[in-house]
Amino acid sequence: MTQAPTEQLEELKELVRKIKSYVEAIGLLHWDLRTGAPRKGVDIRSQTIGMLTTECFKLQVSPQMGELLEYFADPGIVEGLSDTDRRLIEECRTEYERNRSVPADKIKEYSILAAQSESYWEEAKANNDFAGFEPYLTKIVAFKQEFIEYWGVKDTRYDTLLDMYEPELTVAKLDDVFGRLKKRLVPLLERIQASPHQPKHDFLHKDYDVKQQEAFGLFLLKEMGYDFEAGRLDESVHPFATGLNPGDVRITTHYIPNDVLSAIFSSLHEGGHALYEQNISQDLAGTLLAEGTSMGIHESQSRLWENMIGRSKPFWQCYYNDLQKHFPEQLKDVTMEQFYLAVNRVENSLIRIEADELTYNLHIIIRYEIEKMLFNEGLEVSKLPEVWNEKYQAYLGLTPPSNSQGVLQDVHWSGGDFGYFASYSLGNMYAAQILATLRKEMPEFDQYIARGELLPIKEWLTDKIYVYGKSRTPSELIEAITGEELNPDYLADYLEQKYTEIYKL
Ligand code: ZN
Ligand code: ZN
Repeated sequence: MTQAPTEQLEELKELVRKIKSYVEAIGLLHWDLRTGAPRKGVDIRSQTIGMLTTECFKLQVSPQMGELLEYFADPGIVEGLSDTDRRLIEECRTEYERNRSVPADKIKEYSILAAQSESYWEEAKANNDFAGFEPYLTKIVAFKQEFIEYWGVKDTRYDTLLDMYEPELTVAKLDDVFGRLKKRLVPLLERIQASPHQPKHDFLHKDYDVKQQEAFGLFLLKEMGYDFEAGRLDESVHPFATGLNPGDVRITTHYIPNDVLSAIFSSLHEGGHALYEQNISQDLAGTLLAEGTSMGIHESQSRLWENMIGRSKPFWQCYYNDLQKHFPEQLKDVTMEQFYLAVNRVENSLIRIEADELTYNLHIIIRYEIEKMLFNEGLEVSKLPEVWNEKYQAYLGLTPPSNSQGVLQDVHWSGGDFGYFASYSLGNMYAAQILATLRKEMPEFDQYIARGELLPIKEWLTDKIYVYGKSRTPSELIEAITGEELNPDYLADYLEQKYTEIYKL
């Protein structure tokens, strides 16, 4: 008989709590940098982040961790453990194996650079200055190329990066899924463009008071069940959500005076991310499992709330009156039906975060192809604006008039998040697939929304997804909920059905 491994398990959990404390502190420093930290403090702050990240990293690959993982490598010992404990051990092992060959100084140097680079990106974007940003981005890409060697090259170099955000996702699988999606979305887009029924939308661009926008956004967040005692709403250049712990999940938004939709949908989007993090089981708090299981599943939750619920007709049947009360002048001659159509207008555009549900996926496919070129085909950073503009012309028929509206528009690359963009389209696909099951299991889905009863939906998602945090993998989750693996046809079906009605195709 082996002894119950209580002592070792406690030791591992204590070590993990220490790691999580660093992660939380670093998360808070990042949040602060992006929500109004003084400009002159950026360099020193970046170094602080770099120092803490290095300490955290050292714990993850420490000899103590190594010994504990070796102890738990014995199948006889893990046999008696709970599923959650076993998952925790696996999670520690994945991080340990991935990172132990990366030298700690490299991590430090890189995390300082990435934190700085994010702030310089903001400046470069504001000043349309790709040349000023290029040296930072070049260094970031070089670091990532080096890290790929340490982490281990999978089927291709870019596969290594994809796997970090979506475990087991490969270039081969994405090429297939994106290929199938493109085959159905491109013809749909052509039919939409040829339709004589183009929604009016000029009223969306009147002057919409920012204070009223904020009030309406706060109202919607409360309606969907975002817990303000476990979070807060701030402003930042790029809206984001950050889960520091399940009791502190913060979101940001961005108000544009002549665009009433931007803040509404970014609040619903980030609110969706936040509901996920706020409703992870308390049992997982303080462990590495107390977070979303993958970026793709995370994105499915933001998309489900933003698009499948927030852009649905029942949603505006319920909430359009409230919106009109916030903007009586601007919307006095606009009917609910007109507003609903405008909210779902499809248009080829330059900016990803402003894109509609359909063309959004093309924005992602462009980034996916460019990242593949960067990491698998040796594309140089200096060539990025040129390649970017060519692809926008090819896929969306538009050439950006400036790099600010082109290659500089997204924050991701500045922070080294290559491989991340695919998550957004994965999120759309997962969301549509989950929605199909949700509708089956909740026949009153539309009626609930139309009555403004969003909490039953939040509860369903909590039971099926949120509580599990990272204790189920993306494929386990999606198969347990829907009975099949990722299938892009659900998204194509959903979009075809929706736009056939809207554009009378
Ligand atoms: Zn418009
Ligand atoms: Zn998101």
